[in-house]
Amino acid sequence: MFEAHQRIGGGLRTEALFDSEILHDICAAVHPMAPASPFMRSLDLEAHGVPLLHSPAACGHPLQGRPAALAWRDLDATCAGLGRDGQRWRRPMLPLMERSADVVDLMLSTQRTPPNPKALALLATRLPAQALRVGGGLRTEAARALLTGVAAHGIGRLPSPASAAVALLLGHLAHTTGWPVPQGGSQAVAAVMARQIERLGGRIHTGVRVDDLRDRPPAGSPSWTSRPANWPGSPRCPRGTSARCPATGTDRALPRPTSSSTARSPGPTPASPRPPRSTWAGPTARHRNWPEPRRRRPGG
Ligand SMILES: Cc1cc2nc3c(=O)[nH]c(=O)nc-3n(C[C@H](O)[C@H](O)[C@H](O)COP(=O)(O)OP(=O)(O)OC[C@H]3O[C@@H](n4cnc5c(N)ncnc54)[C@H](O)[C@@H]3O)c2cc1C
Repeated sequence: MFEAHQRIGGGLRTEALFDSEILHDICAAVHPMAPASPFMRSLDLEAHGVPLLHSPAACGHPLQGRPAALAWRDLDATCAGLGRDGQRWRRPMLPLMERSADVVDLMLSTQRTPPNPKALALLATRLPAQALRVGGGLRTEAARALLTGVAAHGIGRLPSPASAAVALLLGHLAHTTGWPVPQGGSQAVAAVMARQIERLGGRIHTGVRVDDLRDRPPAGSPSWTSRPANWPGSPRCPRGTSARCPATGTDRALPRPTSSSTARSPGPTPASPRPPRSTWAGPTARHRNWPEPRRRRPGG
């Protein structure tokens, strides 16, 4: 695995910031998918020594001049707090909670296996109501803010089928497996995954930026994680190459290098529970053992 940054983790990094010893999760801090997604369930963080810590309130939305709207782990408490919207919150969430694992597996599946019909029916009858209106038919400001805040985790248009799916997925998880934080910070999750890679014979190289399919070492089958903007179809995607995206099963590739590369010495990544402050490696680091990149064809 080749990581451009000096430390692995990406959005899972935990670092001391602002000249203090206090550790911050620099991006992801709260992990509703950690106890819920099929992959993370199979990984079992707790068995790897990373307890998932829960607050009685899974998530909340602050409101101007009044108490925040809260989704408690307890559905009844949530509905009670949402007043006259309580039943409107319960109605879509309760059936999803009762089939939560099936619903999650369906929503996160690669769509390559036949969907669980009961989970499919549950979603098919609930998604439209959420997808058509911001706030999903809720009437009070607090409930609408709570649901919309959850839907907005999809980082897309509101309302939309995608944001509705996110609202139902993350919304019902608040009352099932919860929205926990990993003890030790999000970096602990990256450390567990790194140990798995190494246990399975993989090696992790940090400070190595890969900007072209031809930059990879000559062996192995590539699996990239990069921006959708660089998926095939982009004019910069080299012809005749394809790479599998582990998250979606979609083929995609990286752009070509923009500058010459310099040698840098990578090594297996220490996955320390208390990480040092990191420094950005710069965009042109390269594995010292790799062959020089092929010269680009004119117009290539
Ligand atoms: C402020 C903020 C708060 C968030 N909070 C949460 C939260 O609480 N809960 C949650 O679940 N999600 C949260 N997210 C979203 C979450 O961080 C991302 O969804 C997640 O990090 C995406 O993971 P990824 O592996 O796809 O990409 P990334 O985490 O971005 O990892 C990509 C990695 O690839 C490396 N890389 C990129 N280009 C190259 C290259 N050319 N060569 C080599 N390496 C390269 C990068 O350095 C990086 O380490 C938050 C995001 C932000 C920005």
